[in-house]
Amino acid sequence: MDTQMMDGPWSGRLYTGAWTPALAGGVIDVVEPATGRPLIAVGRAEPADVRAAARAAAAAQADWAARGGEARAQVLEAAARALADMAEVVSRWLMRESGSSAPKAAVEGQHAVGFVRHAAAMALEPGGRILASTPARTSVAERVPLGVVGVISPFNFPLVLSIRAVAPALAAGNAVVLKPDPRTPVSGGFLIAQAFAAAGLPPGLLHVLPGGAEVGQALCADPDIAMITFTGSTGAGRKVGELAGRHLKRVQLELGGKNPLLILEDADVELAAANAAWGAWLHQGQICMSTGRILVHEGLHDALVARLAAKAQALPVGDPLDGAIIGPLIDPGQVARVDAIVKASVAAGATLVTGGTHDGRCYAPTVLAGVTPGMPAFDEEIFGPVAVVTAFATEDQAVDLANRGDYGLAAGVIGGSVDRATRVGARLRAGHVHINDQTVVAEPQAPFGGMGASGNGSRISGPANWEEFSTWRWVTTQPQAPAYPM
Ligand code: NAD
Repeated sequence: MDTQMMDGPWSGRLYTGAWTPALAGGVIDVVEPATGRPLIAVGRAEPADVRAAARAAAAAQADWAARGGEARAQVLEAAARALADMAEVVSRWLMRESGSSAPKAAVEGQHAVGFVRHAAAMALEPGGRILASTPARTSVAERVPLGVVGVISPFNFPLVLSIRAVAPALAAGNAVVLKPDPRTPVSGGFLIAQAFAAAGLPPGLLHVLPGGAEVGQALCADPDIAMITFTGSTGAGRKVGELAGRHLKRVQLELGGKNPLLILEDADVELAAANAAWGAWLHQGQICMSTGRILVHEGLHDALVARLAAKAQALPVGDPLDGAIIGPLIDPGQVARVDAIVKASVAAGATLVTGGTHDGRCYAPTVLAGVTPGMPAFDEEIFGPVAVVTAFATEDQAVDLANRGDYGLAAGVIGGSVDRATRVGARLRAGHVHINDQTVVAEPQAPFGGMGASGNGSRISGPANWEEFSTWRWVTTQPQAPAYPM
């Protein structure tokens, strides 16, 4: 299986409706994070490749839009089936390219299929309204595609975070130019191209151009691209928003988070610890929705910390291909960043309960207790497997701690009384609030997005998708032109 994967059609190539070399012929050497060894070399796009792809996408888009929703839904349904049939290869790539554990890779593959199925259903929904107007005039507001959508996606859930934008953009009648993260070009792009090619998507409607920030910037400035949908860090998102705004494009920004999990005094501490561990450590904490602050009532604090430490010490760490549940961080820079945050927080007075060490790119699941506002572990998005624990005495204190900072993506509240937990949840500034669950929750049918520095107020998935990936056109019809008094 691994040898076949290395020989994929993407070797040295971009996807432009066919597998083609980059115009300047460059390649990206993709490294397997668990071993640090080269995995594959794929084509490296440059701004000139973006220009060519956007022009070709714009030329192909009108026919796709004119086909109608039924025909588009059939292609999307076939793509969902193709992707489901590729499940084993998809999982393997997610494990090798992004350092995913086997369960995370399997769930990501299933979710990706779900996003395409939901997009197929979206293409069948009615796309307009009849408006009230003067008696002689038929007035219709109809949904029309934007044209070409540029998708910029990150490394952490590369498949899902690309496909959750690609699939609804195509469903609404757009063409797509996708720029996956250069560290995950196959799972974040080429596997999607393969599934849609197998489904019979006409050439020209989907392009996959791996490359760095300069390729993303070229998308933001391209005259043939009408919309940018970006998932990534808040810092890069600001740059994308500025540039795309200057070029008058619609921009959807899905950014970082520092997501609180509140554990109220009537919570079951066993369940709470399992939730906190999942939220903080799943995929090594490299998820925008990762639990970034565990806020626990002081009466449960010691019991919770002891349980988290025991879990941390029991979790297998290493290469996901050897069965590890805590795999590698994406690159050495991220290892150094996580370590610096842990060390600075300990120097500022936090208690290192367990962890704080690393072997290569594998950072041990870590528990930091006594973390307070002002410490980097409390204030910053870590993107590493660090459980950050802070005790509170009152509900007001818990809400205040949860709402500190600029982010507002996801939040969870765990408590015995659902009414009380719900009341506390209503006071949290977050785009997603989960009562009796941790913070890492996503479904294709749910609108996804954050407040504050977690985005620009846009939402993706479910009921948000028609609004985001199309625009209104107002069309009126009269039997004959009116006799205006002029
Ligand atoms: P990143 O912002 O560095 O990179 C994300 C993508 O943007 C990559 O494809 C990258 O090549 C591209 N990029 C980087 N700079 C760019 C620029 N100036 N112009 C155009 N494109 C540019 O993000 P990362 O560190 O790789 O990913 C982790 C971040 O993503 C975290 O902050 C995480 O919270 C966030 N994230 C958010 C969501 C969400 O849905 N809200 C989901 C996953 C990850």
